[in-house]
Amino acid sequence: MVDVREAVTFTLWLCGCNLKCPFCHNHLLASSDPSVCFPLSIDNLMNDLIPSRGLIDYFHVTGGEPLMQWRPLVDLLREVRLLGMNISLNTNLTLPDRLLSLLERVEVDHLATDMKIPPEELYGLPLGEAVTIWQRFIEGLKIASHRVKKLEIRVPIVRSLKLDVLSRYAEEALASIEDAEYEIVIYPIIGPPLVNPRDEKWCELRCNPERDLLMRAEEELRDLSGRPVAIRYWLDG
Ligand code: SF4
Repeated sequence: MVDVREAVTFTLWLCGCNLKCPFCHNHLLASSDPSVCFPLSIDNLMNDLIPSRGLIDYFHVTGGEPLMQWRPLVDLLREVRLLGMNISLNTNLTLPDRLLSLLERVEVDHLATDMKIPPEELYGLPLGEAVTIWQRFIEGLKIASHRVKKLEIRVPIVRSLKLDVLSRYAEEALASIEDAEYEIVIYPIIGPPLVNPRDEKWCELRCNPERDLLMRAEEELRDLSGRPVAIRYWLDG
């Protein structure tokens, strides 16, 4: 009941990712660690999914980065669609060619993504690479906005975030969404002991932003988008 706002999901986590976000809570999954990753046949998955279909709003796929396995994912989602279920995809949107290939083959009802700002800090990649990845994210956002019914733009917030930087990147990203239906949700990046980030030292300096920063980020994003902005939660309640 937490993967899609105000909906119940059956959630599948897929292994592998093309990014190295230092705050990543699923880094074992993202790096395909054999302690948490194993092969699963579509038939076995369907055997679990079919009895639950009357209870859920979406079949939700997350990771890791699901588009790393986009071909078998298309086969799986086509079977899910045949059951008449809604489909939700959580992707980092930085693999636009794969996204387009998937969306040309199967309909996705809901897509959630992180708007990682600033990219050079949150993608965990060298500066030049992060800039390229951000451009691929913008491209992915454009593709999604033309082909997916509902977008959920999640904005992870770190303590060190500068509001003018948030504003500059968010303006570019929101302009690329055009007329699609979307909502913005702020996610404070939290640290141990609640989660186990990839880089604890990085997190010591940047995780658990103050409530005041979240409120100011909310105001900034509300002004930019002209729509309400939700905050997922914060540690001090
Ligand atoms: S946070 Fe998401 S995009 Fe980043 S490394 Fe983890 S799984 Fe990949």
